[in-house]
Amino acid sequence: MSERKVVVVTGGSRGIGAATARLAAREGWSVCLTYRSAQGEAEGVVADVQAAGGEALAVRADTAQESDIVALFSTVDERFGRIDGLVNNAGILDRPMNVDAIDGAALTHMLAVNIGGCFLCLREAARRMKARGGSIVNIGSRLSELGGAGGFVHYATTKGAIDSLTVGAARELAAEGVRVNCVSPGVIETDIHETTGIAGRAKTLSTQVPMNRPGTAEEVAEAVVWLLSDQASYITGAKLNVSGGR
Ligand code: NDP
Repeated sequence: MSERKVVVVTGGSRGIGAATARLAAREGWSVCLTYRSAQGEAEGVVADVQAAGGEALAVRADTAQESDIVALFSTVDERFGRIDGLVNNAGILDRPMNVDAIDGAALTHMLAVNIGGCFLCLREAARRMKARGGSIVNIGSRLSELGGAGGFVHYATTKGAIDSLTVGAARELAAEGVRVNCVSPGVIETDIHETTGIAGRAKTLSTQVPMNRPGTAEEVAEAVVWLLSDQASYITGAKLNVSGGR
């Protein structure tokens, strides 16, 4: 069994997940980071962690597929023999669609990744953590409360589910020593905005941010890794906005 605490970070190849994996490793966690297609970038994060003296493993797992999630956690069992943390980060944004023009197949896929994948990863982690405690951080979004009007209601709706999952799972698992919290990023400068097809989206949106700039993946990672840690030992069911005041 690994001597260090082990955290699984889904979607750890890029953006917020990659920054979280790097910071968690610096804080002494062994990290299992997952990716769907960006193997080279995921292996690059692993190399960075190892070069800094940490332990990391990259595993391909499409979180829209339950079988991939089950296999991922089996790999963690075999490789590390324990799991102490989960960062439910893998998520997609997609192109804008108004509510009266939603594409059914795109909506179904988004629900599968942004809700189903997080729920099933939480299930697998909770089954293993129940005996010995653990900490789960779900990555939501400020849009769960802002609503996403203007093309992103589908995405905002999936993040509303993350808010509910956080509160419900936190209360259900509290007596088992498992904490569940949510970090809600605002506008963060990552690749995810490119999938909307709107050039410069993060910069444009930052005019709506009181701090007048987009956040960085590293700023979100700081909040995530703190909630994962024992320093947040009496915090469960909480939502922490990392959004520059938006
Ligand atoms: P990125 O697009 O930069 O990274 C997304 C990560 O998720 C990648 O590692 C990607 O893997 C992975 N991923 C996507 N789909 C799947 C899938 N089906 N199975 C497994 N992994 C998958 O996004 P961000 O870092 O910006 O976003 C991370 C989280 O933060 C998301 O949940 C997002 O909704 C949330 N968020 C982001 C905000 C922002 O402004 N950036 C604001 C609010 C919330 P691969 O590289 O292999 O494709």
